[in-house]
Amino acid sequence: MIFKKDISSLHVPHNKNTAGCEPVKIETPKEVILPMNMHSGGEAEPIVTPGDHVYVGQLIAREEGRFSSPVHATVSGTVAEILTLPTARGKEVKAIRIESDGKMEKDPAMKAPVFEGCDGFLQAVRESGVVGLGGAAFPTWAKLNEATNPDYKVDTVLINAAECEPYITSDHRMMLAHADLIDDGIEYMRKYMNEYLGEATYKICIEKNKPDAIEVLKKKFADKPYVVIHELNAIYPQGAKQVMLYNATGRVAIAGKRFPSFGALIINVSTLSKMAEYLNTGMPLVERIVTVDGPAVKKPGNFIAPIGTSIRTLLELTETNLEAVGKVVIGGPMNGNATVSVDSPIVKVSNCILAFDEKTATLPEPSACIRCGRCMEKCPVDIHVAGVEAAASIKDEEKRAAALIDTGVRQCVDCGCCSYVCPAHRPLLAMNQDAKWWLKQYERSKQSR
Ligand code: SF4
Ligand code: SF4
Repeated sequence: MIFKKDISSLHVPHNKNTAGCEPVKIETPKEVILPMNMHSGGEAEPIVTPGDHVYVGQLIAREEGRFSSPVHATVSGTVAEILTLPTARGKEVKAIRIESDGKMEKDPAMKAPVFEGCDGFLQAVRESGVVGLGGAAFPTWAKLNEATNPDYKVDTVLINAAECEPYITSDHRMMLAHADLIDDGIEYMRKYMNEYLGEATYKICIEKNKPDAIEVLKKKFADKPYVVIHELNAIYPQGAKQVMLYNATGRVAIAGKRFPSFGALIINVSTLSKMAEYLNTGMPLVERIVTVDGPAVKKPGNFIAPIGTSIRTLLELTETNLEAVGKVVIGGPMNGNATVSVDSPIVKVSNCILAFDEKTATLPEPSACIRCGRCMEKCPVDIHVAGVEAAASIKDEEKRAAALIDTGVRQCVDCGCCSYVCPAHRPLLAMNQDAKWWLKQYERSKQSR
């Protein structure tokens, strides 16, 4: 399957109500809950026990298994318990609850990592706990490591600053405040991955609806010819990696191939700055900017919160009447996920909390597919969206897997464009996600047979 060349993406309302809201550091929460699955790979393993005292930035869970990532304490205080939390897929995941002592004391042993060469650099990034903050949560060291594969020749690093989802402004605000960290991140990559990325062009891909950030970045990088501020139209899903690759380089992503095989690496702009922060100071990923907005939110804003802070805490800060909230979504309205409880914590990738009132939360009842084809017309990766439901209902597992693979659903980037345009209001995004999840489980069980 080849990524289609005429990208007719969506013009969704931007609703960037908080673009002018400077991030406010929240008061230290009474407790934080840190799940062990805040990244795309294997769950991290706790190395603390209840009663232990911990400092901000202290390692509390080590990476375990492929593409795992370490977890660090985000407040100082006492480990209260190792609990289990339900996940959206019905499984349980371990989590560490820390009761804060209110002091936010940094780990006294913390110092900027000392390393040499590319391997040392990648190991330091690995220890930072930084993962893709644009939503994928793929460990950043592993993504960078792909560029060292001799099969690839990466000549372009795409720094994803599109932030194309409605409402979210956390990357935007980070760019206004920390252009220096973006600069540092680029220089670290150039220095320590010189053999692989020394000749590369660094394209900061940013939508035109952030003129103040564009100005800041242009000024910052005016004397660096290898950094290009690449302005993109504000369309959705401009931040999807296949879409960005095409719009920024003209290259076409081919399904099933690793991204660096197209000569490019893509890294979210906040991820890059968090990586640089760790390398400069030794402070791992312990806090982030979260946009809080939505029709039920009285005072929308951007907040700097320790990871593990409850959603409730952030909604209360915005004077949201929790009684009137019909749905809370983590992430954007297009591809975010509804949360089951406002007592759930924000995790590493939680860039936004959206609260909807009963009226705006109620989705129209789905009706039968009228075969209009709009879902496929708007899919940026040419998936046979309307065929996924039928394929998923095939009883024979082998045939079901083959039919699902034929639809191309494995390449779905979860953008939600199909659901957005479907006149029959079919829950296409959810169906695709279920299908992808089932295929993964099926392939795993086949391998272990
Ligand atoms: S959610 Fe997946 S299937 Fe739907 S439009 Fe986006 S990429 Fe295509
Ligand atoms: S957009 Fe909806 S109604 Fe139209 S073909 Fe796709 S699933 Fe069917």
